[in-house]
Amino acid sequence: MERIPFIDLNAQYQSIQTDIQKAIQGVFERGQFVSGPEGIALESSVCDWTQTAYGMGVASGTDALILSLLALGIGAGDEVITTALSFFATAESIIEVGAHPVFCDIDPRTYNINPSKIEQLITPRTKALLPVHLYGHPSDMSSINAIAKKHHLSVVEDCAQAIGATQSDKAVGSWGDAGAFSFYPTKNLGAYGDAGMVVTQDQSLAESIRLLRVHGSRIRYVHEAVGKNSRLDEIQAACLNVKLKHLEEWTSRRRHLAQLYNELIRSKNINVQLPIEIEGCQHVYHLYCIQVDNRDAVQAALADRGVGSQVAYPDTLYRQPALQKIVSNSADCPVAERVSQRILALPIYPELSEDQVRVVVDHLAAIVK
Ligand SMILES: *Cc1c(COP(=O)(O)O)cnc(C)c1O
Repeated sequence: MERIPFIDLNAQYQSIQTDIQKAIQGVFERGQFVSGPEGIALESSVCDWTQTAYGMGVASGTDALILSLLALGIGAGDEVITTALSFFATAESIIEVGAHPVFCDIDPRTYNINPSKIEQLITPRTKALLPVHLYGHPSDMSSINAIAKKHHLSVVEDCAQAIGATQSDKAVGSWGDAGAFSFYPTKNLGAYGDAGMVVTQDQSLAESIRLLRVHGSRIRYVHEAVGKNSRLDEIQAACLNVKLKHLEEWTSRRRHLAQLYNELIRSKNINVQLPIEIEGCQHVYHLYCIQVDNRDAVQAALADRGVGSQVAYPDTLYRQPALQKIVSNSADCPVAERVSQRILALPIYPELSEDQVRVVVDHLAAIVK
């Protein structure tokens, strides 16, 4: 029986091994391990990718969110409206800066924050909107920005899963006041450790983030603000610069494999809900997620047949144990609740073969009646 893992980082490493080792060697020879030329080159390339003017490399995607909120002046007493369905770090970053997360239900088609449910959650304390481009599909940023403008709110985009995604040909990260990217190893552009970046069009916001990521210091041992240690290291930046050259090709491969999954699942009439790409949007398929009845049983049966899958995410954010004391019980997001019970991510990565996709779909057809 062929085993098909949910993700295979080694396959990608094999394909770029020589360049990665050369890049790491270069960093050691230069002897500059933080805030050096690799980081600066990466910032400039990510700005090109995201159609933005300023990029600030930081230590992780979580820090990219936290530093964006801090630089926008969001803190104690403020409310930030975000989606009910995301990775925990989205909510954590809001709490970390002392603000209060307010959870909004999702659009049943894209699984992203539903703009038509945002306005009813706005209060005099609301300071920002924090949409997530979940699984690689852009949130409806034109609607979200219109709401933000009307109510004078900041917008921070959580782009951790969506580098290269667009709505109306405009890149994620370029819509909001700030866009936060993660280069965690499993993301579409993944480092060999932790790394992240904030992008923005706003020069003064960029300067604040540059300051906050190094202890609020511009001149050595002079500290203008209380910040953090959140630098991007040169080894990670060097690896990311190698990988960025392949990102366009890897993204088209993900899109191609997603189409293949869609076609095969449709042709076999398997009773699952397929992912949707809204017209005018480019989905980058960080995850290929289906909805299926008896999800946990289907996942176990796939595992028995050697196929890895993942539940992203098994619960809404406001049901996480850590948030029970913080979040009001009034969070009511029936769509997110239902999706969290039915969502299942199948293997998708550039190195996955078409034959492997066929094998996954054959198993799925045998399991799902
Ligand atoms: C991965 C991820 C993060 C956090 O990024 P790290 O680099 O792991 O800190 C935040 N939000 C979402 C939606 C993510 O998927």
